[in-house]
Parts: sequence; structure tokens; C-alpha cells
Amino acid sequence: MIVVMKSSASARETGAVLQHIESMGFKPHISSGEERTVIGIIGSDRKVDSTAFEGLSGVERVIPILKPYKLASREFKQEDTVVEVRGRRIGGRQVVVMAGPCAVESREQVMEAAKRVKAAGATILRGGAFKPRTSPYAFQGMGKPGLEILREAADANDMAVVTEVLSVQDIPAVVQYADILQIGARNMQNFNLLEEVGRAGKPVLLKRGMMSTLEELLLSAEYILSTGNYNVILCERGIRTFEKYTRNTYDVSAVPVIKKLSHLPIVCDPSHAAGDRDLVPALARAAIAAGADGLIIEVHPKPEVAKCDGAQSLHPDQFDVLMKEVAAVARCIGRDI
Ligand code: PEP
Ligand code: MN
Repeated sequence: MIVVMKSSASARETGAVLQHIESMGFKPHISSGEERTVIGIIGSDRKVDSTAFEGLSGVERVIPILKPYKLASREFKQEDTVVEVRGRRIGGRQVVVMAGPCAVESREQVMEAAKRVKAAGATILRGGAFKPRTSPYAFQGMGKPGLEILREAADANDMAVVTEVLSVQDIPAVVQYADILQIGARNMQNFNLLEEVGRAGKPVLLKRGMMSTLEELLLSAEYILSTGNYNVILCERGIRTFEKYTRNTYDVSAVPVIKKLSHLPIVCDPSHAAGDRDLVPALARAAIAAGADGLIIEVHPKPEVAKCDGAQSLHPDQFDVLMKEVAAVARCIGRDI
């Protein structure tokens, strides 16, 4: 349920509503729009008596949120959420590009990747220090030294860092080095991890599970939002279908659907969707045309020797071309890059 305050409501009146919500054992979540303040009453499946709020001064109306996700819904917050990361704004007019290797393999590799993707226009460096691999015998990532390399390369190129956190025990280390904590597709429904990254307080990039519906994605976002961390960026990275010519099926429709249902920004990952570098540029362009707020793309200085996801990683020269094409599409729909 949401309590919509009058545009003329004073801070005191809003405070009294918040207090009332807390005294009933619920957690209030505030969304302060340009026009008016909206307060979400979230906390349990317990029914809230709306009449208890309708009579309070400063309250305009009380509306039930019918969707299972509440804080993630457009009903709760009408304006788009903009997540700020080291001066970059994700979810605004500007299209934000995150790029870098799948996995951190060495200092030289990440330094070179960062230099090239930054020169092409990416502003956020991606790279996995902790890798979720299907086989326990595959390269599992460099761990903490990998985080240090990412930070160094990002700082040297004035970039922010996005990197995956695989488990609760790794959160403190990842928080120390990264600007955005990535929850991978395989962990989208690791609810305990979602809550803990929420509490860590840093922006979270939440990838759609490979067999998850958009409603499930939004409910996973809700786990993070309900901790009071409102800086969540959603990511479409392809889902499993019967089609075999792509690694996953890229669900471009996720972009307009999410935009309709939620105020959260959404970026697309054409690399993991395609599984093949030749397909990545077209899928990247499609994402921006569909209204995505950004891209996350795998780029490796030498994809042929990559320890992870080489087939879908772009050569830096290919990334240069992709960025020019994506910028042209962005301009067509009135966005910058
Ligand atoms: C990744 O970004 O390298 C990754 C493992 O992605 P996903 O969780 O989407 O498979
Ligand atoms: Mn990868």
C-alpha cells in the first residue's frame, strides 16, 4: 500500500505518517518526487487498514499496490530511478556502457582492456574476480588480487568498477574495491545474498536469471530495495529457450516491459545472450533502440586466449566500431552516450 502525501504536506505531517506506520510494525519507504512524497508501507503480508491513514493530516490518498513487487513498481515511484556511480548517471538521458573482460586474468590484460574500452567511450570497467563456472575444474577467477587489479585499472582510466559477488563471505572484499556489485544470473534468486548486498549499501547490478520471468526479476530486486538500498540496475542477459544458434535467447522485449512496470534502470548484456562475438554489435544496437539505459559488454585484448567466454568477447577494434554504431542509435532516439 502507498500513502500519497499532498503536495502541500509539511515535513511534520510526513513525519507523523512515518511514525504511525512504524508504530503499526511496518517499515516505511519514502519516495520523494518533484511534486509530492509517496510513502510505501511494506513489511509483511499482514493487511494494512487504509482508513488508519486516510484521516491523517497531509495525506491525499491511500492506494493499494496490486503487483507482488512493491518498491520496484511504477505505482510506488513514477519517475525513473537514476543510479549515480562516481559521477555517472545510469537511468538518465545518457546511455552508459560497461565493458571489459569476462574474467580478470592478469594485470596486463585488464590494464590494456581498460585503456581500450575507455578510449572507445565506456565509463565503467567490468571484469570478474570471482567467477561462477559450470565446471568446478574451470578457471574460478583470481579472487582478491583480481579486485585490486580492477581497481587499479579503473583508477588509471577514470572509470568505475562493476564486478560479481558470488557469496556473502566475499561481500566485504568486493565492497572495498568495486563501485557496483554484480549479482550474476545464477544467483538471481539467492535471496540471502540479495539481502546482504542490499545492506552493503553500494549500487547493485542484478542480472536476470537464465530461467526467470520478469516478475521474478522484479521480486529479486525487491529483496534489495526492501533493505533500503534503492540503487538497483536490472540487466537482461538472455534466457534459455529451445533455440541453439545463440547461447541464450536475447529478450529485447524485457526492456520496454521493465520500463512499463518499474522505475529501475535496465541495461543489456548482448555478450552472454549471443555467446558469439559476431552477433554482439547487432544485439547491442537493438538494446539501445529499445530504450535500454546502457550495455555491459565483454572485451578482451586477446579473446582467442581468454580463460573465460573468449568466443563472445570482442576485440578492442570491434568494440570501437560497436561504440560508434551504438552512439548513432542513441542519438536517433534522443539520448547521449
Ligand atoms: C558475467 O557477467 O561474466 C557472467 C557470469 O554473467 P551471467 O551471470 O549473466 O552469466
Ligand atoms: Mn562472461
